[in-house]
Amino acid sequence: AKGAGKNVFALFEKRMNEHASERVTLLTDLRQAVSQGEFVLHYQPKVDVLTGKVTSVEALVRWMHPRLGLLGPDRFIRLAEESGLIAELTEWVMATACRQAKSWQEDGHPPVRVAVNLSPFHFQRQDVKEAILAVLGATELDPALFEIEITEGALMQNDEYTCRVLGELREMGITVSVDDFGTGYSSLSYLHRFPINTLKIDRTFILNMMKSTEDQAIVTAIIAMAKSLNMQIVAEGVETVEQLEALKDQGCHEIQGFLISRPVNAEKVARFFTDEDRL
Ligand code: C2E
Ligand code: CA
Ligand code: CA
Ligand code: CA
Repeated sequence: AKGAGKNVFALFEKRMNEHASERVTLLTDLRQAVSQGEFVLHYQPKVDVLTGKVTSVEALVRWMHPRLGLLGPDRFIRLAEESGLIAELTEWVMATACRQAKSWQEDGHPPVRVAVNLSPFHFQRQDVKEAILAVLGATELDPALFEIEITEGALMQNDEYTCRVLGELREMGITVSVDDFGTGYSSLSYLHRFPINTLKIDRTFILNMMKSTEDQAIVTAIIAMAKSLNMQIVAEGVETVEQLEALKDQGCHEIQGFLISRPVNAEKVARFFTDEDRL
């Protein structure tokens, strides 16, 4: 048995080393990917539940890895954050999203905001506002068509600084959304101090709301709270008509999720801008 334990340990150690070397390889690849722009953005619409109109599209990054194929953000965002590559990657995402929004506008589509996800690692750096200003300047995109999504957890860090930067961005006309809301335990009294336009209810609550009265109650409470603070509410991860109807009954303003569309390329998402039968 002792021998077997030793073998298991040796195997474990081998796996760990493989894992570590995989990480090193992926990091080398990621460095190259960032410098060569091996990424693509997919877009997912957010739709007003009453009018069926697209208000905003969220840009979601994918990596076109030369050997591994198309990789989702869950495979590399963390690595980008830990290695510091996230700032450069986010700049690429912002520039690409803004150029795309500008080009939709020039093609005569109705105005739709483009939303980008900001990593807390990046946001806490002093120059995130400068980076946003630079990209809006370079692309000449109207700030009213630009939106940032920052997670509830990120709001809590360094709150004075966060509050000031968000305030400055909002004054420029940029929309500020709080992502994955409900997972970070922020209180009403805390939240109202932040210059926030929109709360996005985390997908896990929407997933469980039809079968868990507890999750249903949380969704109800978030909607009531957001309304009392004059915030817009988006439910993310809406997959069924039942969820849509329940959210509509509760007064949720917008939905996002597979029911409307999966994240798709720029050309495909633009079809939703004028289609009347989204809901
Ligand atoms: P997120 O910001 O919460 O984005 C929503 C995720 O949920 C997306 O996954 C989307 O494809 C997925 N989703 C949307 N609707 C549904 C639905 O109805 N059902 C289900 N099951 N899933 C749905 P994705 O694209 O894999 O992105 C995962 C996360 O990676 C994002 O979560 C975001 O935190 C991060 N991410 C994506 N792009 C970027 C980026 O450019 N920068 C940064 N910093 N993070 C990003
Ligand atoms: Ca998001
Ligand atoms: Ca989210
Ligand atoms: Ca999430």
